[in-house]
Amino acid sequence: MSEKSKFSFKCLEQKCDTKACHIRPRINVTMGDIARWTSQNYLSQIIPGITLSMPSNENEPLALTTLRKPLESDPKQTACIFYHEESNGCTIRYSRPISCRAFPLEYNGEKYFLSDKNCPGVGEGEVNKDALKEVRDLAEQEYREKIETLAALPGVYSIFMGMMIRQSAEGMKDLSEDDKKHIEDIMSKPSEDDKQDE
Ligand code: SF4
Repeated sequence: MSEKSKFSFKCLEQKCDTKACHIRPRINVTMGDIARWTSQNYLSQIIPGITLSMPSNENEPLALTTLRKPLESDPKQTACIFYHEESNGCTIRYSRPISCRAFPLEYNGEKYFLSDKNCPGVGEGEVNKDALKEVRDLAEQEYREKIETLAALPGVYSIFMGMMIRQSAEGMKDLSEDDKKHIEDIMSKPSEDDKQDE
C-alpha cells in the first residue's frame, strides 16, 4: 500500500452485522498474546479458550488458535469462542489477540493487504497519518509475532509431550502388578476399528 493509499478503517464494533472478524475460519494467537495476557493477569481467564491446532495437512503449521462455537443464529456457522452473539461483541475486547487488533489489515513482510475486502469498516474513519501508522504498526507487529510463534511452537510442543510421557511413566511405576497386568491386557486387545479392518 503506497503513501497515497486511501486506506481508512474504523471498526463498527457492535453495529457491524457481518461478524466478519469473529467468524474468520481461524483466529490465530501468538506467543506475544500469551505474554501480554500473563503480564495483564488475564491468562487464567483466557487460556481455557485457546487451543493448539494440529495441522490437517503437511503444508499447515502447528498453530495456537481460539476455540470455536456454533452461532445460535446459524448453527452451521462457527465463531470464535470469545464472541458474544447477543451483544455482537468480543468478551475480551480490551485484551483481544493481535490478529483481531490488526484485522482487516495484514502485512506479509513486503506489503500491506486486506485480509477481508468485505469488512464494512474499510473506508470508514479518517485517513490521517497517525491512524494509518497505527494500523500499519499493528499489522507489522502481527507479522513478526506470527513468525516468532511459528518458530517456537514445535519446540514448546515437544517439551510438553516429553513432560507428559515422563509423567505417565512415573504414574506406571506406582501401579500394582495387578493393575499393570490389567492395563497390558486392555492395550493388547484389538480395537473395534482394528476388528473391522481385519
Ligand atoms: S477474540 Fe474477540 S475480536 Fe477476536 S475474533 Fe474472537 S470475539 Fe472477535
